[in-house]
Amino acid sequence: MERDALFRKKHNIHTSGSNVPSPLQNFTELKSRYGCKQYLLRNFAELGYKEPTPIQRQAIPVILSGRECFACAPTGSGKTLAFVCPMLMKLKHASKDGVRAVILCPTRELAAQTARECKKMAKGKKFYIKLMTSQLVRSADFSKLHCDILISTPLRLQFAIRKRKLDLSSVLQSFDITSLFSATLPDAVEELARTIMHDAVRVIIGRKNS
Ligand code: ADP
Repeated sequence: MERDALFRKKHNIHTSGSNVPSPLQNFTELKSRYGCKQYLLRNFAELGYKEPTPIQRQAIPVILSGRECFACAPTGSGKTLAFVCPMLMKLKHASKDGVRAVILCPTRELAAQTARECKKMAKGKKFYIKLMTSQLVRSADFSKLHCDILISTPLRLQFAIRKRKLDLSSVLQSFDITSLFSATLPDAVEELARTIMHDAVRVIIGRKNS
């Protein structure tokens, strides 16, 4: 069996899609293969993250290769870092180009938690990471909102777009990759996602929907 396949088997990583990039052997490969900045590796070390988790090993190279990603891995398996790390790497540095990337979370709690994790990983860089709170939805003048990463629930985002003139066209210019991370991947959700994703790689850790 080829090296990647053996390594995936060892970590219970299942993939489908064409030309799936090799999984990460360690965090240092983020630098040697993808030119990751030192601050991220330093933050991972400070947070006590020694090795990437299986979902991180496979999903990060998929996204960094410019591919769309469907990822399904159990709760607590490190999915947040798996999509935030490539996001920070692609954004490179803070900028005032409107909203540059969006993370949608199904609940407010998850959105708040994701925002906290994001800030920890971005420590030492001036990225502007904004949580869409009820107060922000009510008060902000979104036509002037500059933010590198906006984290919201779907309803609040929809409200902001409809009523508060939030313009997401800048997201497409700076971050044109869609990915979907979940602990479960029901067929209906995957079918819906496939209507907007075309060359997606599917990454499943353990068994689908277990
Ligand atoms: P999920 O989104 O899959 O439920 P989280 O992203 O919330 O999981 O991560 C679960 C916990 O694991 C968090 O406390 C996070 O800080 C920690 N974690 C993430 N990546 C690693 C890693 N590579 N090594 C050790 N702990 C990690």
